[in-house]
This record gives sequence, C-alpha cells and structure tokens, in this order.
Amino acid sequence: MKKFIYGTAGKPLALKSQPIMKAPAFLKSMGLEAIEYEAVRGVRIDKEKAELLGIEARRYNVKLSLHAPYYINLASPRRDVVSRSINRIIHSINAASWMGAWLVVFHPGYTTGHQSRREALMMIVENLEKASVIAEEKNVWLGPEVSGKVKQIGSLEEVVEMSSRINKARPIIDWAHLYARNHGLFPKNIDDVLKVIDYIESNLGSKYVKPLHMHFSKIEYGNGGEIKHHTLTEPYGPDYEIICKALCNTGVIGVFISESPVLEHDALLMKELCMKSC
Ligand SMILES: [Zn+2]
Repeated sequence: MKKFIYGTAGKPLALKSQPIMKAPAFLKSMGLEAIEYEAVRGVRIDKEKAELLGIEARRYNVKLSLHAPYYINLASPRRDVVSRSINRIIHSINAASWMGAWLVVFHPGYTTGHQSRREALMMIVENLEKASVIAEEKNVWLGPEVSGKVKQIGSLEEVVEMSSRINKARPIIDWAHLYARNHGLFPKNIDDVLKVIDYIESNLGSKYVKPLHMHFSKIEYGNGGEIKHHTLTEPYGPDYEIICKALCNTGVIGVFISESPVLEHDALLMKELCMKSC
C-alpha cells in the first residue's frame, strides 16, 4: 500500500443520484483510492449489491470500509437498546464481509446513566464480545472511532483500550473529533500528532498504524464538543498540514477519509496539501 491514500465518506457528491457502484471508477479517475460506505442510517444494502460494489472496488483498487449506523449505544442502561445495537454491529460486519470491506467503523456508546466513564467503557467491551467473534470469523476489523462529543465514549485512550481488550478491534482516529472533544487544544502541533501515534504504537503495536484509518475535516465545537463539520478552506481547526507533516516521518500508513461538506473536493485538496508538506 502507498504511504497515504485518500477517499470519501460515502458517495462522491458529483455522483448524486447515480448508484454507489459507480463510485470506485469515479474516485480512481480523480486520483482517490478509498471510500467508506455509509450505513449510518441503517444497513440497507442487500448482498447482491454489496458484492457488486466490492467487485468494482477491487477492480479499481479502491480500499473499502463501512461506517455502521449512528444509532448504536452499547453502554445503554436499557437492555433492548443494547441488543439492537449489537445486532446493528453484526449486520454491519456481514455487509462489510459481502463487500470485502476490511473494517467497520462505529461509535461505541454514551456515558449517560453511568457512575463513571470506566463503567460505560467496560460495559461496551462486554457487549462487543459476540460481534468480535463474528468479526474474527469474517476477517473484518471492528473500528471504534474517536468521537466528537465529550459524553460519548471515544477519547483516544478509550478507543485504544477497547482495541486492546477486544479481538479484531483497532482504533479509528477522527482528527476533527479529537480536536473538538479537546476544545481546540489538542492536537495543535506536530508533537501532539506524534503523541497520538506513539500512544497507539506503545499500547497496541505498530501493526495498528499500518494502516491507520483516519477521518478528517475542519470542525466547529462548543462546550460539549463537536457541533459541525466544515470544509478545509473555512477558518476552523485542526490544521491538516500539521497532521500530514507529522505522519510523514513516521511508519504510519494512512487512509484519510474526507468528512468535509465538499467530500471529494477536500479529499483531493488534502492529497495536494500533503504532497507539498511531506
Ligand atoms: Zn463516525
């Protein structure tokens, strides 16, 4: 794999009403090489379509991942919510396996109803056991993502700990979320970015950053963390060039997924900026 590849969170905007199947050829023609299939409102793709998407992705050498539904809370005090959440993760793993996607990205859950963040985290770990067995069988990674809101479980430390306790799980770094949950104070410079990578490598090993799956956009935040994703040219943080510069001199192999409102446009802009700074 190349040092860095770039792609979009979902179907490129230019393909609007066209089928997702066309995305790999389109992305490749632009110089982009990754796509995250967005099942964020539910896993609705059937097996046949998923397999076709996988064939196209492999034909154009576009790396495929899948984002699980937003309505997942593995730390809910309600048994029915937990059981639906587990099913949504399992359904996501199955769809990823039909497509040949290597990874299911998901937001693990909330701290609401718990005495401590630790209690919520441990409940999530326990509730992921069944999905992790299936993930292992199907050879699909589970990717707990750094979350944008403080009340969500998903600090860097939490996603790394989850990845150390669960088989077949690896941390997903959303740089915008990390920045928003830290109220714009981290990461601010090259050293901060390197601290993130060191933390992952020292706790999990270097295979966990080869590749490292990452999301990027600019972001607006408030007291509770994330408010809104923005484009790369808007006056918000974090700074993409700092991230690229820092990763450039590490062993990290990076997949950058653009979550900007101008998806493919900013994926390309990231690629250009990184070529200049690296
Ligand atoms: Zn996400």
